[in-house]
Amino acid sequence: KSIVRFEDVRKTYQMGPVLVEALRGVTLDIKQGEYISIMGPSGCGKSTMLNLLGCLDRPTSGRYLLGEEDVSQMPDDDLSGVRGAKLGFIFQSYNLIPQLSVVENIEVPLYYQDRPEEESREIAIRLAQLVGLEKRLWHKPFELSGGQQQRVAIARSLVNDPLVILADEPTGNLDSNSGTEILRVFDDLHQQGKTLILVTHDDDVAHRADRAIRLRDGQVESDVKVSKA
Ligand code: ADP
Ligand code: ADP
Repeated sequence: KSIVRFEDVRKTYQMGPVLVEALRGVTLDIKQGEYISIMGPSGCGKSTMLNLLGCLDRPTSGRYLLGEEDVSQMPDDDLSGVRGAKLGFIFQSYNLIPQLSVVENIEVPLYYQDRPEEESREIAIRLAQLVGLEKRLWHKPFELSGGQQQRVAIARSLVNDPLVILADEPTGNLDSNSGTEILRVFDDLHQQGKTLILVTHDDDVAHRADRAIRLRDGQVESDVKVSKA
């Protein structure tokens, strides 16, 4: 089943008198349960692509179908709703709220819903356990290692059971051991059938995915199945 379809997606930015073509006709079909990496040199359009995938911006032309829904022309308010309901985000810098505990950080996306507090708490504790933070439930971010903080962010991204999890350089701030630990969490999520899209500069990270998409000058240069040794 297709989860993400891009049909001839273009994105143009106006820079004063100059038009910058950040994406120049990208067509993609991503199925449920795929684990995708997106790579390519600086300026090739990775951030633009992630912003579009994440419904933070709209294509200039072309179609984006997320699940069954055409989100290409949606107004901002609806896009914001789609983000909350269908997408999970993981960033290089974790983006946790420093004053909140592990459990409270995981609960944040649930504040947007009218769900009973006890229920939110149960969900957050279960997700904290899922990412191996059962002994750190009430710690604040500053009391955690980088890898642990990123695990909080992963748990938070899962809280609305998103269709797609989008990760932007998720291991970019981590030493190699913590990075490997995070990649193991992604492997687990992949095993559980989650759809993951990860933007990275790191070949080793990209090769954990089962499909590698390489962009160049705003176009798909290659899109290949990753062979596992
Ligand atoms: P990457 O993430 O691969 O480095 P980007 O998507 O950031 O690539 O950028 C692709 C191209 O679009 C670059 O030429 C960049 O300068 C341009 N670009 C990106 N964002 C904007 C913007 N908001 N305004 C103008 N140009 C932009
Ligand atoms: P604002 O309401 O200030 O415009 P946004 O809607 O742009 O904020 O959301 C900011 C961040 O919070 C985004 O990363 C978005 O994915 C996330 N977010 C917004 N609503 C929800 C929600 N209901 N559940 C989970 N995350 C949400």
